[in-house]
Amino acid sequence: MKTDVEVRRTERVLLKVPIKVHGVDPEGKAFSENTHTLVINRHGARIAARVLLRPGDEIKVTNSYSNRTFPFRVVCRVGKSLGEGPEWGVECLEPEANVWGIQFPQKKKAPGEDQSISALLECTQCASRELVEVLQGQYQTLITEFSLRRNCPKCGTTTAWQFSFVDDGWEEPSFPAQAAPTVQGSESTSDLAPQSLATAPTGAPLPTTTPHPAPVKTERKERRRVKRVTLKLPVRIRLQDGQQDVTRTENFSKPGACVISKLALYENARVLLTMGYTGGGGDLEAPARVVWQKPMEGTQLTIYGVDFESKR
Ligand SMILES: [Zn+2]
Repeated sequence: MKTDVEVRRTERVLLKVPIKVHGVDPEGKAFSENTHTLVINRHGARIAARVLLRPGDEIKVTNSYSNRTFPFRVVCRVGKSLGEGPEWGVECLEPEANVWGIQFPQKKKAPGEDQSISALLECTQCASRELVEVLQGQYQTLITEFSLRRNCPKCGTTTAWQFSFVDDGWEEPSFPAQAAPTVQGSESTSDLAPQSLATAPTGAPLPTTTPHPAPVKTERKERRRVKRVTLKLPVRIRLQDGQQDVTRTENFSKPGACVISKLALYENARVLLTMGYTGGGGDLEAPARVVWQKPMEGTQLTIYGVDFESKR
């Protein structure tokens, strides 16, 4: 079983939420630090904090969006940081609290039950956010119409839901100018990567081309902060030497996706991705390149940023 706090109970979302961490240190001195999460789940988070904490410490975490404060317990210090500075696994001491303002699916996933599709959606009426397990037909509607009609518990009626944009806070490193070219498009919602997914989950092929090919740029610094949508989609990652892993995407940006895999991939490695992998044959593969990687402490997994290659 996985033991890290991020994946222990509910699905994780790579999301930067501004928080304030505060409490009293062992010497009785009050501390307070404005920082952010790196990964959240319903009950916990991985957070960045320079203040020295210890496993077992009780701290307060204020969600700076909602200005609501919750008691938390420090579970562990994470050995390898995803960003800069120390990171901590923390767990909310109020199990029923909705700390992050996001509804997570109730159902726990059984091992091997990873073929489902989840998306972080937002009600267009009240801005409620929910990590929704979407069915096949709903997924098709989402990626073609970028909107899905479903019941909103807060509005008490059927409303239109759209992808919720997230900032996962991970600045992508700049690369030398000869790095793999990126396709840059316009900034409209409909231009986001989900539209360019290679295949639909049950195999209906979608175009492999990015919808709006544009002049090739190699300047990486422009994409240090990219908007992403949280869309968890089964994906097969295949290397040219035959190694492969079936996992799910964590999120999508216009140039690419984040995936967590047990494969050991080097930066700039070329991989073949089958989006919406079903295990059947005949799925289309989209070439992509690894542009950054960070180990996931406490697991044998690594998180990768991959960019789709433009079609030659
Ligand atoms: Zn609503």
